[in-house]
Amino acid sequence: MNPQISNIELLKLASGDIFTLQVYKFIGKNLGKKVYIQANLHGAEVVGNAVIYELIEFFSSLEENSIAGEIWLVPVCNPLGTNQRGHFFSTGRFNSYDGINWNRIFWDYEKECLDLDEFARSQINNPTDLIRQNYLQKIKHAWSKQLEKIQKPSRVPWRQEYRYQLQSLCLDADYVIDLHSSSNQAIEFLFCFQERQDNAKYFLLDYGLLMDRYDGDAFDESFLKPWLALENKLSQLGKDIKFDIESWTLELGSGMTINPKSVAKGVAGIKNYLAAKKVLQNSVVNHSHPVNVVSRKNLTSYYAPTGGMIQNRLGLGGQVAAGDRVYQLLSFNKQQELPKIFDIYAETDGIIFDISTNQCVNQGEYVLDILNY
Ligand SMILES: [Zn+2]
Repeated sequence: MNPQISNIELLKLASGDIFTLQVYKFIGKNLGKKVYIQANLHGAEVVGNAVIYELIEFFSSLEENSIAGEIWLVPVCNPLGTNQRGHFFSTGRFNSYDGINWNRIFWDYEKECLDLDEFARSQINNPTDLIRQNYLQKIKHAWSKQLEKIQKPSRVPWRQEYRYQLQSLCLDADYVIDLHSSSNQAIEFLFCFQERQDNAKYFLLDYGLLMDRYDGDAFDESFLKPWLALENKLSQLGKDIKFDIESWTLELGSGMTINPKSVAKGVAGIKNYLAAKKVLQNSVVNHSHPVNVVSRKNLTSYYAPTGGMIQNRLGLGGQVAAGDRVYQLLSFNKQQELPKIFDIYAETDGIIFDISTNQCVNQGEYVLDILNY
């Protein structure tokens, strides 16, 4: 089957050029769920684009009756971030205009919905599908107010227009998958919500970080939190339901690079998840991949105790025990003394989860993460 390909004009630049999003939609023959997959929200995190390319190839090879529902794919979803450079380096994590992290800008209806209690009470005798429909209507109504703001003569900052375009694509989705990587170098893992962690195994990754604290206004959070809030409220009122709505952030290795192993893991995991969700029909599902899901609190970032050059750092994915040396800092001085070597030791057992690409650090700059699990 072929995808429907459409464009959304995103941003007109001072030079007269226009940045545009391109959306690939695979619409199955049978009714079903809506899946939304985007990549490269952070400019350096390019690996998801290759994952989306592989998925487009794969879905294109299928017959229409092999997909139930719709799969929407948006590669290079943040042209400003993707194209941003500092010499050889793509950074693209922060909007260079206002300094804000591109993944902390999204609209979270939970924060705005002041009558959730009243709404939940009014729905208590309704079936789950109808509650979902009614709540989505409520979200869409609030969303239309955002558009009104954008269209006023006073307008809004760009980040609010941008989020409007991206979130409009997936407000009514069932499953959202946001493809990231480290902006540095990391192993592959996913972020998952406590309430949905049972399904993390379908992505076939070895590690999951539980979102037991929120960053605030991240893409995955903004999509799912309003629904979790409603589930929670209904549960307080004695009605335990779970909407089949999920949001995942896959972290597929390192930034500024496309590691074939990371691409293969991303593609295999997404295919298996879609098979488990029956979006891909008649596919064999792997239900038994063991995934280590741990709290984000188990991740410790190490920052340089003084300025210098990182050397003899343990490699990515390596096991450490508390007390092991994890790296050295070669530190120069202006006190007419010889350079010194400092050894830095692990505070906990764990694995080297993420490392800085730059081995030259000022005091207090990031060096590595150890995940204790
Ligand atoms: Zn990211």
